[in-house]
Parts: sequence; C-alpha cells; structure tokens
Amino acid sequence: MRTVFFALTIALSSWTPALAQTVVLTSSPEGLTAEYRLSAKTQRMAFSQLETIRTDWSVVTPDVSLTPGEIVSTAEIDRVTLQLQPDSTEDGRGYIALTRLGEGYVLYAPALTLEGQTLRLEADLPESWTLAPDGPFDGYVYLGPTSAIERRGTGVIHIASATPRPVATTTLFETFDTAFDYFTQTFGPLPRPPVMSVTQQGAGPVPFRGDVTDSGMSSIRFHGDIGDALDAEALAEVEHFAWHEMTHLWNSHLARPIEGSPWLHEGGAEYLALVGSTSVGRIDQADALAGLSQNLTDCRNAVASRPDIMARISTGAAVYSCGTIIQWLADMELRLGNEPRGIVAVWADFIDRARRGEAAYGPDDLRAKLGGSSAVFSLLEGPAESRWSDLETALARLNVRWVNQPSNTTLVTATLRHIKRQVCTGGLSYSLRNGAVEMESGTDCGPFAGTVTLASVEGHDPLANSAVMFEAVQQRCERRGSLTVMVRGSATPIAITCAADLAMPTAYSLMEAPLIALPTTMAP
Ligand SMILES: [Zn+2]
Repeated sequence: MRTVFFALTIALSSWTPALAQTVVLTSSPEGLTAEYRLSAKTQRMAFSQLETIRTDWSVVTPDVSLTPGEIVSTAEIDRVTLQLQPDSTEDGRGYIALTRLGEGYVLYAPALTLEGQTLRLEADLPESWTLAPDGPFDGYVYLGPTSAIERRGTGVIHIASATPRPVATTTLFETFDTAFDYFTQTFGPLPRPPVMSVTQQGAGPVPFRGDVTDSGMSSIRFHGDIGDALDAEALAEVEHFAWHEMTHLWNSHLARPIEGSPWLHEGGAEYLALVGSTSVGRIDQADALAGLSQNLTDCRNAVASRPDIMARISTGAAVYSCGTIIQWLADMELRLGNEPRGIVAVWADFIDRARRGEAAYGPDDLRAKLGGSSAVFSLLEGPAESRWSDLETALARLNVRWVNQPSNTTLVTATLRHIKRQVCTGGLSYSLRNGAVEMESGTDCGPFAGTVTLASVEGHDPLANSAVMFEAVQQRCERRGSLTVMVRGSATPIAITCAADLAMPTAYSLMEAPLIALPTTMAP
C-alpha cells in the first residue's frame, strides 16, 4: 500500500477555515472507505455539496447517522468512517459521486467536502494504483490501476479499463483528440490538460451518459453492453457528444455561464460542436442541416406560441434544441455582418475575458454582441402569436431555404392526437408495438377505452400508408364528416364525428443555408 497526500481546493471565494479535516480513502471491492479525521470534536458535520445524492453511502462508526446533507453523531466525535458504494442509479442525479472504472473508481471529490473546513485527502492505494488528474481536486478524480491511463502527446489524458476497447470508446477518444486540437487552435490553450475517462460500468438506466467537471475531467459512462453494439447512427451521436463535452471545457469551465440561462452555454456547446466537426470534415453541411432541422422542429414544438418562452427554454430538452437555434441565428447574422468568424468570435471573446479574470457571461453579453434588432431577440421577446412566422421571415432573409417534411411517425402522431381531441376527455397514449399502433386510455376515451390496437383509419393502415391516411382524415375533417376506425379483434367499425380541421404538422427540413464550417485558416 502507498499513501498519497493531496489537498482539495474548495472553490469558495470567502471562507474562513475554522477546522481542518483529513479524509483517508482506502479501496475495497465494494467501493471506497472514507475515514474523516477532524481537528476538533463535533456532533454535526454538514456537507458543502448538497446536490450530491449519498443514499448509497453508509456509516461504519457506531452511533453516527447520515442524512442527505449531514453526518450526525449522538456524542462528540473527531473520527468517523463512511463506506462509499458506487451509485446504484444515475436517475435524478447530477455529478455521480462514485462510479466503477474497471478495478478502479471515478470519484466526484467535492462530494466529500464538509462545510467550512479545509479538506486534506490522503489515499491509501495499492502500489499499482494512481490518481488522475493530480490536482487541484475540484471535480472528478480517477483512483485505480495506472495501466488504465494513457497520456497523449497533445497533453490529453485517456482513461479506460477494457482491452480490447469497444469501438465506442475508441471513437470517443479519437473525437476528443480531434476536438481538443480544433478548440485549442480556435480558443487557445486550457489551463489544465483535459482528462477523458470512459467506463462500461455506468449505473444506468440510460445506456450512455457523461459530464465534465471543473477538474478538467470528463466521465463518460456506458451502461450494459451498449459500447460494443452501436450502429453508425449511434456512433455519430457519440462523436457529437464528445465534441459537445470538449466545448464545455472552454465555454463552461474556463468562461463561466451565470445561473439561469442554460440555453446559452448548452446551445453554445451543441452549435460549436457542429462548427468544429464540419470544419475538420468529420460531418458535412447536409449532416449539420439535418441536425439543425431537428432542433428547429423540436424547439418549435416545445415552445409553440406559449407566452413563457424564457421558462420553456431553460428546462428540459428545449435548453438544447432552442439553444442551438439561437446560436445558429446569431452565427448567420454575424457572418453576414462584418464578423467572418460569426459566433466563434463571440465565444473567443468570452474566453479571452475569462483569461483576464472576467469569467462570468450571460444573455446580456450576447445581446451586446448582436444588438437588440437581432432575430435572436425577436424570437425571445417578440409577440408569441407571430413568433414562428417572424422567425421564418428572418430565416429567409438569412438565405435559408426549407420545406415542411413531416415523417410518417409525425403524421401518425398528429392524426392520433386529433382523434383523441374528438373523443377523449382524459388522456390517451399510444406506442408502437409489434409493428402496430397500440392505444391505451382510461374509461374517458369513449370507444377506445382500455387497450386497443389500431387496424385502420379511413381504410388505411396507419403505419404502412401514413401519408394517405393523414390526407383522408384531413379531407373528412374538413367536411366535418364521420371518421371510420377499425381496431384489431373487432369487425365493428368505430365512427367518430370530426368537429375540427386537422392541421398539417410542422417538421422543418432545411434545404439550403450558409455554410456552417469555417475555413481552417480562419482560426487565430
Ligand atoms: Zn452540455
């Protein structure tokens, strides 16, 4: 065994170190043991990170209990030992406190910090183990066999256990290296070398998740055998994800977004990932436009003509879809103006300011770059009723051409929603099962109460002839006629009076737009 000492830097601007604490970490097959040694006796120890979920941790010391935010003892103590099991799920969790990586672990070090104390970590590790990065420990840290670590010539550190490595892991590492080179050229060097860790032992339930912390370390977690079994489309998503996470090292951990507008830094990471991967030729303009088409459609569906657009785009998937569209609009406007590097120049400036000690940025800084007449601010602050027609006018002005091209699934979904509005007072859900549409509802859905499988609508199979079915329903509803629906296992047609027009759903397919890629000679 070998003892490694290191101090954890706590990112608090004003705090008085009242007490000192030492935490000794030891590894076991079940997880890590953390022994706290305090400089004074106490009964209550509050954790400084309240977001961390510690339900997989337990207390070894008798008469001591662990609450979500505190360690509480019945008597005054200056020693307490916790057993840290790897997180049993990632559901509802942010940074994951402990994840397995081969025989080792990825620990979110700030999860251990106690409020108001200086933390000194000691690790009692087997001879063949190490920890990386080697400080300061303000984010993820790897504790495990040295053999899992590979230091690249560029300074990037790769950590993964499995050999041979699954294709997804190799793809992630290659993309990280490419993205690191691109953004280093574009935005200048990072203060610390990035560390990329990939494990196949993520807790799930989602098959693939990852994040990046202030320590410059990314943790990418596959759950199950997924890392081995990805098709080309899924691998393309993995690549995009790698670009996205790499962007955050500059746009979230060097420059620092102010609280409350996640659409700005997440949209930035999504869009800069497109600029980077098209500029180095990993994807082409058509791929980038397909991605933007989906974001534009998703953003429109999420926001529609609701008045609370800022709240809508600050939570859930709209953070990413609308965030990306905002960056794209800004990029096209700037490039049409006198800024050939477009939105990249804006981010370069935020990052330069961070290097000069002004790290915080927010929507007002974007406004200062774009001016109040930008399409970005018409989208965010203009009248809700004309939001999307105004945006389409702005897109046309920016030389973007598109068609409305709803997929079969979109047409089926729109039809079923419309039918639901005609017959249900409560909810109706539908899913694809065994190549058919299965509908499920309570008793408040008239003829569809319970679980039924659709056979035909207006005589057409909804999956095999989606477009024809949609058109037939549209025509029938225009005449306020009666729709005929057949369900499996019944020879009796169900008649539904249609009392409203069925509108064509919007699914943007961008045909032409200014080039997303930047000439590589344009990087400073
Ligand atoms: Zn992100």
